[in-house]
Amino acid sequence: MNRACVAIVLACVLVPLMGCRASGDGADAAAARTCEWAIVLHGGAGVIDKSTPPERVREYTDSLARALAIGVEMLEAGRSALDAVEAVVMTLEDDEKFNAGRGAVFTAEGRNELDASIMDGATLKCGAVAGVTTIKNPIRLARRVMEMTRHIILSREGAEAFASSLGPDIARVDPAYFFTTRRWRVLEEVLKERNEPMPALPKGVSLSAVEPADTDPRHRDTPAGVTFGTVGCVALDRAGNLAAATSTGGMSGKRWARIGDSPIIGAGNYANNASCAVSGTGTGEEFIRHGVARDISDRMLYKRISLAQAANEVVHGVLKPDDGGIIAVSRTGEIAMVFNSDGMFRAAADSRGRLEVGIWERPEMQASGGR
Ligand code: ASP
Repeated sequence: MNRACVAIVLACVLVPLMGCRASGDGADAAAARTCEWAIVLHGGAGVIDKSTPPERVREYTDSLARALAIGVEMLEAGRSALDAVEAVVMTLEDDEKFNAGRGAVFTAEGRNELDASIMDGATLKCGAVAGVTTIKNPIRLARRVMEMTRHIILSREGAEAFASSLGPDIARVDPAYFFTTRRWRVLEEVLKERNEPMPALPKGVSLSAVEPADTDPRHRDTPAGVTFGTVGCVALDRAGNLAAATSTGGMSGKRWARIGDSPIIGAGNYANNASCAVSGTGTGEEFIRHGVARDISDRMLYKRISLAQAANEVVHGVLKPDDGGIIAVSRTGEIAMVFNSDGMFRAAADSRGRLEVGIWERPEMQASGGR
């Protein structure tokens, strides 16, 4: 899809679906609501080279726009925020450009270990998986942990065994499915910088000559060679419910069994109908240390400030420059996309006609409404 096609998708497919109607559910939040539904997604934050060739940029913005369209259609049709965030994140997990599902980064041992979590703002129910290696869509398994167990986080073999007990509901793949040459090249760079040996190629894969090392605009993520690219989605549905979902391969060259912020409720993911839904991306250890997603929600509740204020305080006042960013939506439909890194792959839409896809500070594509 080229830029013109994306604009057509945005303008012709999405905008006619929108239209703000007065909310009639009588609750406080509904009265304050500025739109009937809203959705935001991200595909990771980091140092994203502004000299990236335009056609490469378009590949990313097209993917973001396509994933957004899936969520928009569901919310417009009255589906729940929970269903929408799961569907959007599954789409991004299947897209090898992002560091989640296929295309995930590697541990220092050359494996893909995936983390994901999902949270329902209406009930505060949540579920997560960590360190899974054969689950095609970790976010789906996280949802099943939430719905079908007494627990919140299942990890590694225990999570895989739970998946096996669910049969075909949870698609399984050989670990080689997650392999991409571009991520392997990033691992080479990271380990070289650290003076550590490169592991052998995983079984059943081969390096593709047609995938040059520099095809990913996030290769130069940080001086330390960390690769961002986590995916996440937050949404407010017509019923006034919020949900958040986040999925990741973690950080390139991470220690095996390292668990990041994405499956930690309150760190990289959080949703509460009383305040907001948040999904984070960046240096997971910092997001865990500062309980970033929960902190944004708490500031809204305790300080009675807007989502924008709370998100700015946390991303620019608590986190350090280059730690990453967040996407969020409040119970009233306020959208926030705040990052302290060079850029953040992101897209947002609401029922008032707001529609944008962005990477750097200003959105790369916009069809903004307010009718
Ligand atoms: N936050 C993720 C992690 O630390 C990485 C990312 O956002 O790309 O696992």
